[in-house]
Amino acid sequence: MLTLGLTGGIGAGKSTVAGRLARLGAEIVDADVIAREVVQPGTEGLAEVVEAFGAQVLLPDGTLDRPGLARIVFGSSAQRERLNAILHPRIAARTAQLLATLPAEAVAVYDMPLLVENRLGDGYHLVVVVDAAEDVRVRRLTGRGLDPADARARIAAQADDAARRAAADVWLDNSGSPEALHETVDRLWRERILPFAANLQARRRAPRPDRVSVQQPAADWPRQADRLLARVRRAAGDAVLRADHTGSTAVPGLPAKDIVDLQLVLADLAVADRLQSRLEDAGFARLPGAWRDQGPDGQPLEKRLYAACDPGRPVHLHVRVADGPAWRDQLMFRDWLRGHPAERDGYAAVKLAAQGADIDTYLERKSPWIVAALSRARAWAVGSGWTPDNPGPEPG
Ligand code: ADP
Repeated sequence: MLTLGLTGGIGAGKSTVAGRLARLGAEIVDADVIAREVVQPGTEGLAEVVEAFGAQVLLPDGTLDRPGLARIVFGSSAQRERLNAILHPRIAARTAQLLATLPAEAVAVYDMPLLVENRLGDGYHLVVVVDAAEDVRVRRLTGRGLDPADARARIAAQADDAARRAAADVWLDNSGSPEALHETVDRLWRERILPFAANLQARRRAPRPDRVSVQQPAADWPRQADRLLARVRRAAGDAVLRADHTGSTAVPGLPAKDIVDLQLVLADLAVADRLQSRLEDAGFARLPGAWRDQGPDGQPLEKRLYAACDPGRPVHLHVRVADGPAWRDQLMFRDWLRGHPAERDGYAAVKLAAQGADIDTYLERKSPWIVAALSRARAWAVGSGWTPDNPGPEPG
């Protein structure tokens, strides 16, 4: 099942987007509703909260005094943790119960106000953030009856724009009309969410173009890679030895195909194959057939290759084994390119010359340059004392 995390600052239009997605066929899971359900009168959850914080957290009618409880936990992280230890497992259990009733082809949308604040993005296939300028949001909230100063205070207490941008796979700007927002949501549903859900269910990669298109570097590539790596790490759990952004999109200033390369290093191929279903559940489809890197002496080094089910974000996930040289070479080559702008530009020229070719021709054309460059990079790595954990200067 495809899961989508939907969030946005208060007044941005999150509920409006959730409503539209529901009309299109999504199943909405409302985090606020669940958070209230697990502490309704008569629940074990409420009994535990009272045991932990005293009967003072109850209103005369026996319901939870939420503002009162909020005041108690506000200044104390220990108290907050205590409360979360009661609530979070119950919220998770209730959510799982709701999801279990949905068919595999469903699209579940988690309406989650604090997704960014609580860093929950890696739990979803896609994070959608709704945004509008602060003044617009204040105006809309005031129209809904909120005092303007109150509206501004609430906005200030939430995640800032940079944190939201970093968490967003999809950024929905709701500065315009409701009709414009609906149109954008409809297109997102049709062009990305539905095909992603179908690919995920079929364990199939999103289709890719026949012809290579090398584009100018996108400033956002590293952040996209970070979000994807968080999902990979979560899926692979304790088995992860390393997970990194590799390939051309990891080299600032280098034109590249719009495919984010990720590398996951595991102990061996048996571990990799045990993880297949978890990686596929996370949205990466294993590509059939045998995949090999070439080692320093030309020897074949077996790996597994996955590609994203998401048609909106092409990804290759290379799963390499710890005791071979291939994973180190990938990091070394990336770091060498990062530190050698002239080499990077030389590589760019070779790629751009093969612009528009079919993929095999493209690989054939750039291969001689790469083989030669790899030996220069290896010499540099030996001379400079490069290691994967000591890569030299940070990319600028
Ligand atoms: P949130 O759930 O993010 O707090 P809502 O979806 O409830 O935000 O939107 C806040 C208010 O603004 C609501 O009254 C809503 O009807 C209104 N609204 C949402 N989008 C627009 C828009 N594009 N133009 C005008 N009003 C809007």
